[in-house]
Amino acid sequence: MSADEWRTCPFCEKEKERLKSILTVTEYEKKMKEFLHPEYETEEVVRIDHDFGIDDNGIFSFWYGGNCAVCGADWDFKIKDSPPTSKGRFVLEKNDERGAQND
Ligand SMILES: [Zn+2]
Repeated sequence: MSADEWRTCPFCEKEKERLKSILTVTEYEKKMKEFLHPEYETEEVVRIDHDFGIDDNGIFSFWYGGNCAVCGADWDFKIKDSPPTSKGRFVLEKNDERGAQND
């Protein structure tokens, strides 16, 4: 799966602001290199991916997730829905099938 988009990380941005208030300009500029993506050297360090579809059993699934290459922050939202039945129709899951989905 390729990255759908890249974004800055809100946690890294807050840490950069904190460092800006306590470091000298020279120290700050040197430290900012640690907040660039290790491979692409950009400030957009959060890889966002998503996937959705309907399986053979009629279950619609939607997954949206992101991961920061610098601080490791990880977002993972998954939802499944099926047509109405006597047992209800809505199941919410988190993290349990992520590994299988990325294979
Ligand atoms: Zn981060």
